[in-house]
Amino acid sequence: MIPHLEDLGDVRGKTALVRTDFNVPMSGPDSARVITDDFRIRAALPTINWLTDRGAKVICASHLGRPKGVVNIKYSMAPIRERLAELAPGVELLENLRFDAGEESNDPAFVAQLINGVDLYINDAFGAAHRSHGSIVGPPKTLPSAAGRLLQREVEVLGEMRKNPKRPLIAVLGGAKISDKLGVIEALTSIVDAFVIGGGMCFTFLAAKGLPIGDSLCEKNQIDACKKLLAGNVPIHLPEDIVGLDADGNFATFGVRLPEHAKGLDIGPGSAAAFADIVMSARSVFWNGPMGMFEDDRFAAGTRTIAQAMSETKAFTVVGGGDSAAALAQFGYEKDVDHVSTGGGASLEFLELGDLPGLIALRGAPNVK
Ligand code: ADP
Ligand code: MG
Repeated sequence: MIPHLEDLGDVRGKTALVRTDFNVPMSGPDSARVITDDFRIRAALPTINWLTDRGAKVICASHLGRPKGVVNIKYSMAPIRERLAELAPGVELLENLRFDAGEESNDPAFVAQLINGVDLYINDAFGAAHRSHGSIVGPPKTLPSAAGRLLQREVEVLGEMRKNPKRPLIAVLGGAKISDKLGVIEALTSIVDAFVIGGGMCFTFLAAKGLPIGDSLCEKNQIDACKKLLAGNVPIHLPEDIVGLDADGNFATFGVRLPEHAKGLDIGPGSAAAFADIVMSARSVFWNGPMGMFEDDRFAAGTRTIAQAMSETKAFTVVGGGDSAAALAQFGYEKDVDHVSTGGGASLEFLELGDLPGLIALRGAPNVK
């Protein structure tokens, strides 16, 4: 059993450390970073407010980026602290956990310092729950602990999709790198009824089918793994037309065979329509990874079509992955899916393994019978 906020007992007058995932997208010069999307801060408010409404003192702690154990102004939590002060006045936020190498190495001395003066621990950082870092697995060893609302909902939704999905369950996968996600694709073969594959990763599959892919992204050392998946029992839908740049760098639409030096950067309109039909007729859909280089307007149409289908289908819809969630928000469909997971790697790993180090740690907390 994973303890919930209700399992903390009376929180009045207690000091609660909330591990949040405030790893928000930012832009601007290193010394004056601005938050470009505060979704992850707002997502922590139900947990923070539950605690403050009941008289607890709340201290939040998060990582931001990869400062690798050294203090770096670029990754300072200061802009996030300002935004948090507007959204949840009186709530503290510690400096970037990863400024101390003890966070990633799970150093007991770092954990001891982190929980000094703290009575309760709450993990609401789903996006970091797949890491055995100090702030994730350390505090529940000694402190009464709980999953925050966000973590709780992630586990409920993804757990249900993993164990008891309405079928057919379709996984729509894209994004740049296939090696990042191959383990998950393999694990998902025992869960899903079909795959729909676009994005940069589709070209390694097309290459595995012996098709010419020009200069598109390809991970040659994954071709054999793709061949194996293609020969398996689960249908894998691949694009049949491609949009990208021709050998002269001009925008072009291609069939499934790319000319020499052409580069595929989005699925074509025919494939987008076919993929959207699959999404529309599914009963559960998990989407991770954009269908193309959607940051460039010329190559956003495939991702936009899938995002729209996700918003319109009657299926239960879950979107995981930072870039996929950003695309969904960019096209205005954020509110029209059933669940936007705050964790990219964590949602994939949870679907793959059904458990995460952060959840195991919570189950071992002293307040859990
Ligand atoms: P997520 O964060 O949703 O898990 P990824 O990080 O795996 O997604 O992939 C997102 C990135 O993949 C985007 O920056 C996008 O531009 C890139 N991408 C998608 N399709 C292509 C392509 N055909 N060629 C190059 N990059 C691509
Ligand atoms: Mg990403």
